[in-house]
Amino acid sequence: MTQKIIVSGGAGYIGSHTAVALQNAGFEVVVFDNLSNSKSDSLDGVMRITGVRPLFEQIDCTDTNAMRDAFARHRDAVGVIHFAALKAVGESVEKPLMYYRNNLGGLINILDAMAEFNVNNIVFSSSATVYGVPEKLPATEETPLQPATSPYGSTKVMGENIIRDTVQAKPNMRAVLLRYFNPIGAHPSGEIGELPNGIPNNLMPYITQTAAGIREHLNVFGDDYDTPDGFCVRDYIDVNDLAAAHVAALRHMLGGAQGVNVFNLGTGRGTSVMELIRAFESATGVKVPYKIAPRRAGDVPAIWADATKAERVLGWRATTALTDTLASAWRWQQKVSEKN
Ligand code: NAD
Ligand code: UDP
Repeated sequence: MTQKIIVSGGAGYIGSHTAVALQNAGFEVVVFDNLSNSKSDSLDGVMRITGVRPLFEQIDCTDTNAMRDAFARHRDAVGVIHFAALKAVGESVEKPLMYYRNNLGGLINILDAMAEFNVNNIVFSSSATVYGVPEKLPATEETPLQPATSPYGSTKVMGENIIRDTVQAKPNMRAVLLRYFNPIGAHPSGEIGELPNGIPNNLMPYITQTAAGIREHLNVFGDDYDTPDGFCVRDYIDVNDLAAAHVAALRHMLGGAQGVNVFNLGTGRGTSVMELIRAFESATGVKVPYKIAPRRAGDVPAIWADATKAERVLGWRATTALTDTLASAWRWQQKVSEKN
C-alpha cells in the first residue's frame, strides 16, 4: 500500500524537491504550506516532473485548530517531514518573536497533532548553524553545539531540543534531525528551484541573479579570512541530493530505527566563495562581476561536513558533481528571468 507523508513547507525550495524524490520513491505526498514564502506553482512543477501533483492543504502550521483538522483528514499518514519555517537570518534579528512564533509554534502544533493522530515519525530540517564556529573541521554530529548567533539559529537548536524531549516522553515516536549544510541548485528539468523574495541573502541566488544582469555585481563578503584563499568556506550540497537524503531518513525510521537520530547532510568538501564563483563561470560560460566587500557580521570563516554517518547508516551520500549543480541553478535562473 502507498504510504502517505505530510510535507510541511512542501511548496518551498527544499520541500518541492523532496516532494519529487518522495513521489519518485512511491510515497504519496500531502503538502501543508501557507505559501508565505512560496507559490503553489512549485506543485505544478512537481507534477510536470513526476506526473502527479501532490495533495495540497493551504494552512498555517501555527494555526492549532487548522492543523488538527488537517491531520484528521490525513490520519493515514505514516510520517511528517517538517520544512515549514522562516529562514532569513537578518530578518530574525529584527523580528525575533515572529521567528520563535512561526518556527517553534508550528513545530509544537505538528508534534501535538502527531501524538493525537498517532503519526509517529518526523524528519526535522535543522542546520549546520547549530555548530557555530566549530573548533575542529569537518563538523561531525558529535561536534559540540554552540549558542546560536541569531534568533533563526536559536529556533533550530530549540527545535531539535523540543523534538528530543517529545520523543523521550513518547517512546513510540521517532525522529531524524537533518543538519543541512548549504543547499544549492535546482531540479535538472528546470521545473522547480529556489525563489528568493526580493534581494537574495544567500550566495547562490545572488550569483545567478548577477550573472543574469538583475544585480550589478556580487559583493564578496571578506577576502582576509584565515582560509587557504582568504574567502569563507562552505559545504555546498545539491538540493536533489539533499532531497534524496529525506527519503533515506524516512525509510530508516519506517524500517524500525528508534529514538532520535542526527545526520549531517553535506558533501564533505569545502568550497570558498571565490572557488564557487569561478566554478559557476566555467560551468556556464557566464561572467559574474564582483567586488570585494567588508566581512558580513556573524559569518563563520569556514565550515564543512563530515557526512560519513549518513553514508554508513542511511546508505546516502551526495553524488551530484558541482558543475551539474551550478548548471541547474543557472538553467532555473534563466527560466525565472524569462517569466518576469
Ligand atoms: P523555503 O522558504 O523555500 O520553504 C519553506 C516553506 O515553508 C515555504 O513554502 C513557506 O511558505 C512555508 N512556511 C513557512 N512558515 C509556514 C507556516 N507557519 N505554515 C505553513 N507553511 C509555512 O525554505 P527552504 O530553503 O526550502 O527551507 C526549508 C527548511 O530547511 C527550513 O526549515 C529551513 O530553515 C531549513 N534550512 C534551509 C537551509 C537553506 O539554505 N535553504 C539551510 C538549512 C536549513
Ligand atoms: N556571501 C557573499 N556574498 C553574498 C552572499 C553570501 O560573499 O552576497 C558569502 C557569505 O559571506 C558566506 C557564503 O557566501 O561566506 C555563504 O553565504 P550564504 O548566506 O549563502 O549561507 P550561510 O553559510 O551564511 O548560511
